[in-house]
Amino acid sequence: MTTQVIGRKMYLAGKWVKRDRIIEVRDPQDNSLIDTVPAASVEDMIQCIEEAKEGARVAASMPVYKRMEIIHKAADYIEANDEKFARTIAREGSKTIREARKEVKRCIQTLRISAEEARRINGETIPFDQMEGSENRVGYYYRFPIGIVGAITPFNDPLNLVAHKVGPAIAAGNAIIVKPSTLTPLSALLLAEAFDEAGLPPKILSVVTGYGSEIGDVLVTHPDIRMISFTGGVEAGEEIIRKAGLKKISMELGSNSPVIVLEDADLDEAVESTVSGAFWAAGQNCIGVQRVYVQESIMDAFQKKFVERTNQYCVGDKQSELTDMGPLITEKEAIRVEHLVNEAVEAGAILLTGGKRSGAFYWPTVLTNVPEECRIAKEEVFGPIVLLYPVKDLDTAIEKSNAVNYGLQAGIFTNNLQKAYKAIEKMDVGGIMINDSSDYRIDAMPFGGVKKSGLGREGIKFAIQEMTEPKVVCFKLCN
Ligand code: NAD
Repeated sequence: MTTQVIGRKMYLAGKWVKRDRIIEVRDPQDNSLIDTVPAASVEDMIQCIEEAKEGARVAASMPVYKRMEIIHKAADYIEANDEKFARTIAREGSKTIREARKEVKRCIQTLRISAEEARRINGETIPFDQMEGSENRVGYYYRFPIGIVGAITPFNDPLNLVAHKVGPAIAAGNAIIVKPSTLTPLSALLLAEAFDEAGLPPKILSVVTGYGSEIGDVLVTHPDIRMISFTGGVEAGEEIIRKAGLKKISMELGSNSPVIVLEDADLDEAVESTVSGAFWAAGQNCIGVQRVYVQESIMDAFQKKFVERTNQYCVGDKQSELTDMGPLITEKEAIRVEHLVNEAVEAGAILLTGGKRSGAFYWPTVLTNVPEECRIAKEEVFGPIVLLYPVKDLDTAIEKSNAVNYGLQAGIFTNNLQKAYKAIEKMDVGGIMINDSSDYRIDAMPFGGVKKSGLGREGIKFAIQEMTEPKVVCFKLCN
């Protein structure tokens, strides 16, 4: 596929600007140059924050109906240009065109829900007279915008994860500065284009393209940024927390999600769902299935079907309608995953299928007998690798599921209500799916993790809570 390299501009406080220093955006499947974006400087980021102060004032005074109108118009723009958005995701990222189209649909929904939630930013009355001496007081609290939100986003959902920050921020009356992934900045710039076309006043939104190591610190440490909303890896997340200082923090980090399959489950359904959950976006998915605990009595049957289904996966050109799985985001990432698998095999793991690499492509890989001390069993792989473990019973499966530092989402396949409920109670995660894999999410639900998987929740209504603060009003009445 040939593309014209245009040299994209970034969206700085409502203006489209170029810079001499650029970042090359490359297609991971053949390393071809897709386009370039400016490499923003520290001065660009400082200027952007200065302008966002004015943007925050404008945003806060914009009536709710106007915010709703603009967000809906941005969603309309994406709907009208959906194939352009999908092709961009499928070029700069590692998603196939079918996966990319689904992300575009979800982004439209994220924005529409954001617009709707803007009308539900409610407060409550407060019964002040519960305290002796306060009999003559009445009042309430309402929620007001936090100010300027700094958003930092990863490569794996380059459009919808940006929308999950921009939609709620604008709905809540904030200004927002996005620093998208250096690997996939084009989708975020398209989102800025949608808001620009929708008539968003200047200075409310910026999408600043640049290296995290160069401009990240300015955004994270600046005292006028009232909140950092970060989605990405634990390492970067922890570094940001150390530096951020006095501001609100929301952290959507990684995981190595478990799924439990009990002997009373619908086997075909469990196989179909866990295979899809393991290999969606080539496993570069924060809620992707990494560890499957299968009750011993059905392990052989499950394993056979799982490997058969995995072997049907078509790996190849992302732009083809027939492709099920594309490459990893870079060859370096594929090599990292290859090392993890080799290390496990050397330690005694059995490779049931996969284990093959070509450039940035790594084939869907199923392992069993993986020693629990291997890195692949404990850390987040973020690649198309799944580990199958036989377990005696539910208690063992829960214990093993919880024996990691992460806790984003989990799944359990069973038709036994008591057992499902025990898993709900005992599993240390932010979300548990019954008769589905960990890889299930709608954009309106609270989303986030425990342990090293994060802090706070996204899911529009919940992000709006994080991006607003209560202000108390109390009237002292005369007798
Ligand atoms: P990453 O942590 O390498 O980068 C994420 C973003 O942070 C990028 O924009 C990067 O440029 C920026 N960054 C890196 N270091 C920074 C610093 N010191 N200061 C400021 N910015 C910095 O993550 P990635 O490889 O792009 O994405 C994969 C990770 O994201 C995985 O761990 C995955 O689980 C996680 N993730 C989590 C969720 C969730 O909702 N919980 C969703 C998607 C991805």
